Amino acid sequence: MNQVVLYQHPSYFEHDSGFGHPECAERLRAIDTGLHESGVSENIRTAVPKAAGAQDLYRVHDRHYVDRILSLRGKTEQLDGDTRVSPGSVDAALHAVGAVIEAVDAVLARSCDTAFCLVRPPGHHAEKDHAMGFCLFNNVAVAAAYALAEKGLKRVLIFDPDVHHGNGTQHLFYERPDVFYFSIHQWPFFPGTGSVEETGAGEGRGRNVNVPLPAGMGDPEYLYVTRKLLCPLIENYRPDLVVFSAGFDSHLLDPLGEMELSDEGFRGMYGEVLDTLESLAIPFFFVLEGGYSLEALRSVVPRLIVDLVSGDRIQANPSRPQKIAVETVAEVLRRLESGVD
Ligand SMILES: [Zn+2]
Repeated sequence: MNQVVLYQHPSYFEHDSGFGHPECAERLRAIDTGLHESGVSENIRTAVPKAAGAQDLYRVHDRHYVDRILSLRGKTEQLDGDTRVSPGSVDAALHAVGAVIEAVDAVLARSCDTAFCLVRPPGHHAEKDHAMGFCLFNNVAVAAAYALAEKGLKRVLIFDPDVHHGNGTQHLFYERPDVFYFSIHQWPFFPGTGSVEETGAGEGRGRNVNVPLPAGMGDPEYLYVTRKLLCPLIENYRPDLVVFSAGFDSHLLDPLGEMELSDEGFRGMYGEVLDTLESLAIPFFFVLEGGYSLEALRSVVPRLIVDLVSGDRIQANPSRPQKIAVETVAEVLRRLESGVD
């Protein structure tokens, strides 16, 4: 039985994205319901994180941007077409960042086997100096920067299978060799970034991998990308820590995404990566990003957590992937091997 810590905080329920908005507190309630239904709750520890400090945010975000967001505590303000601050949002965002920082400490200290940060708001669209796509602060980016600056790590890898490309995470580390960003996402789609040509720049060249796939890809394609590309890259890069930018809007039930990953697809894909990480003794943890089907969240997140606790793996669907996925992986490999950009 593995020790899994769930990071949860009451403030996450107080961030209100606006009436009818898909990024709502019900998402976390659905996961909670599923956890109770699964019976796994008795075998997991829940931790209540502290709020992050401004210093943690300054590592990746522009100081003026951070200070502006902090000044909105208790207020309501529309930041872009679909990103809003409500009176409880700043507190939620600071506790979301606080959770990922504490998860870094916990998995590196090996005080647990892994952690899952069930946070809101999500983070991977948040840029250095602006909010975007439901995101205020870039949670996973802060975690990576914290691990490098404060914990003495040399390399962090972020795997982002959210249906949307994590533009913010990519941009924050685009010229750095010490953070490897790997994304599989629907293409063309919001936010518009994430082509195979975007492979990093300067010292970060070759440390940014995008696998853009058309709508309709599912279990065989995601498993293929993971096996063929991600796992060998992890073996080669040897990160000291892996952070999962865990979006679930690539689920077949999701109302925003048009991918077709099933619960078993997510479990098989992550299982494949976890086998690699465990064989190399690389610590890892999960941070919730998107995922807007309450039914899917209620089912897939608890199932994944049950797998983490038990250490069991399910056999992922090894059917032949569609040609476009095979071609995209070949194109990514060609660029990585030739250094073309
Ligand atoms: Zn998303």
